Amino acid sequence: MRTRPQENWERDTGARPPKKGRPPVPAAPEAASLLALQRTAGNAAVARMLDRERHTHGAGCGHGTTEDTATVRESGARARQQPAPGAPAVQRAPAFTQTGAPAESDRDAALRMLDRVARTAERVILAGNPKARNKFTPHLAVNLLPDGSLGISGNTGKRVVTEQQRQTIEQEIRGFADGSAPRAGHNGWGSSADQRQRERQDRSKLRALDAGSYAEHHPESPELADIHEALHKPIRWFAISTPVKKGVPAQHGEMTLLGEQVAAWKKAPRDPDDPKTVHMGGVKLACVACQWAFDAVNETIGRDLGYRVVAAGAHGQFFPNWLMPQWMRGEQAVVDAIRSRAAEIDAELTGDWVVNGELATGDFVHDPPDSGSEYESD
Ligand SMILES: [Zn+2]
Ligand SMILES: [Zn+2]
Repeated sequence: MRTRPQENWERDTGARPPKKGRPPVPAAPEAASLLALQRTAGNAAVARMLDRERHTHGAGCGHGTTEDTATVRESGARARQQPAPGAPAVQRAPAFTQTGAPAESDRDAALRMLDRVARTAERVILAGNPKARNKFTPHLAVNLLPDGSLGISGNTGKRVVTEQQRQTIEQEIRGFADGSAPRAGHNGWGSSADQRQRERQDRSKLRALDAGSYAEHHPESPELADIHEALHKPIRWFAISTPVKKGVPAQHGEMTLLGEQVAAWKKAPRDPDDPKTVHMGGVKLACVACQWAFDAVNETIGRDLGYRVVAAGAHGQFFPNWLMPQWMRGEQAVVDAIRSRAAEIDAELTGDWVVNGELATGDFVHDPPDSGSEYESD
């Protein structure tokens, strides 16, 4: 008797039913210890935030410019939405207030923001095809590319992002760059309280980023400003296509974007003692094979070139039909590392560059954790 989650993954991957008795790949860190860590670290974060709130803005503090820009843009957006003849020319811009302190152990603020863009895109896809939630979960990876634009890639194969979906997603994301995104999202009646809550949080934080107040609360993450800027540029899409039948090997979106990164790293090597962190956001935690690839690329390429890629974490589940991208096949050290990691779980890298084996079964958590903090606008 198979359990529901396994059935979902079987549908997702087009994999054969898992064989009984295979031990699951150990899942990521204990939730309990993570929570404990967050509780401890949270106090320090509260103290830091209170310090920031006591701070008086002045020339050169780095906050004024952002706030001024946000005020101008938000006022403009409101004026467009509410054309009232005779109304005061200047309207108060919405201010975003952080209502819960982030824990220090939270994943980097920039990585979480990339995850939010990915989830927003996923919701657009699901809104256009409600049945998709029961049939498959579209996967999307989001990454700040070396040229400063936002890269988005779905998987190849049966879970591909179509051209029509791309256009709808672009339209939605655009709203978080010009102040026009409504507070309400796609999850209404029929969706769970968790789904609604998460969407509310995602939208409020994307709107706060747009307004400039999110980055101000996260001075430790300068990449947020780069993401803000990237949202105003054309998005670079990869793997836009039409779905093919299930069972065909798929190149995961993260691997496509990682290829863009590695090509750029080689052209601009950095000081290996001061590596630059590249965040790979996504809808779901990385699968086991993608995590092997991140590890291998960091160890055999990034270490020497002064870069490292950090993803939201891995869900620990192996699922078959993972297709190695073309660019990676030429990286012998990466190929060797992945081949030996595969062997450890009785999977193999085939002559067709597919990592195949049996679907790992067990309880796996596929959603990345998000910050407990909330943003509200008045
Ligand atoms: Zn300031
Ligand atoms: Zn993957």
